[in-house]
Amino acid sequence: MRIKDKKRFMLACGGLATILILMITVLTIGFWNRNDNQAKTDNNTKSQTTAVANESETAVNSQAAVTEQPSETKEEIKNASSADINSTDSITKLVNKNHSISSNYRPADLVTVDLPSTRDTQLRSVAIAGLTNLFEAAEAEGYELFCCSGYRSYETQTELYAWNVETYGVDGAELVSARPGMSEHQLGLAMDVTSASVEFDLLESFGSTPEGQFIKENAHKFGFIVRYPQGKTDITGYAYEPWHLRYLGIDVATDIYKSGKTMEEYYGTN
Ligand SMILES: [Zn+2]
Repeated sequence: MRIKDKKRFMLACGGLATILILMITVLTIGFWNRNDNQAKTDNNTKSQTTAVANESETAVNSQAAVTEQPSETKEEIKNASSADINSTDSITKLVNKNHSISSNYRPADLVTVDLPSTRDTQLRSVAIAGLTNLFEAAEAEGYELFCCSGYRSYETQTELYAWNVETYGVDGAELVSARPGMSEHQLGLAMDVTSASVEFDLLESFGSTPEGQFIKENAHKFGFIVRYPQGKTDITGYAYEPWHLRYLGIDVATDIYKSGKTMEEYYGTN
């Protein structure tokens, strides 16, 4: 072969090789792309299937939810609007001159309070932790609180109301004492508290003592409200009682405290 031909041959070979390499590259890329797309399609199909599966699961769930919803919703409405304030065992049961409780109602979970007290007294166990924490918070600020009167039976309330009528007359008694069956004390969710600064008595002046102020500003954090606030006699029916704490649980107590309303105003009833 002549040198010129050799060169031509080499060029031709080079050209062929380049074409071959190009073809292989194109084919390989094509193959990978096809595989990649297939994988993507597979994945898509898979996720679509999963989505469909999830959807049908959701559909089943929503169907179940739809089936269950009416009773749940009813229950919720009952709890929010009526049962909470009407069921005697509810911690948010409303008791006042228009909402009374049965003469034989006695909470099943009464316990003797193990806190500084002027006498032995009981409270529903559900309210004990809140009261204990309130007393501890007061103590941390240097205030010593004392329990005075918690749970009172219908019979005890009958005697107390009669004593008040005898002492102040019916009109006077109505302002300071609940008729039997109309006292929050029978619920086991109310506690009258006092301090040395008012000689362990229950006086309006307790409201302006540091202990009374502490209670006014902090009781809600532990689930209690000052149930008969100053200037609300026309709504509550009772004179200002800065010592009478009512347990409602932290959420409701905080809500009522922030609203500045009485329990009656808060629940839109009288
Ligand atoms: Zn009281």
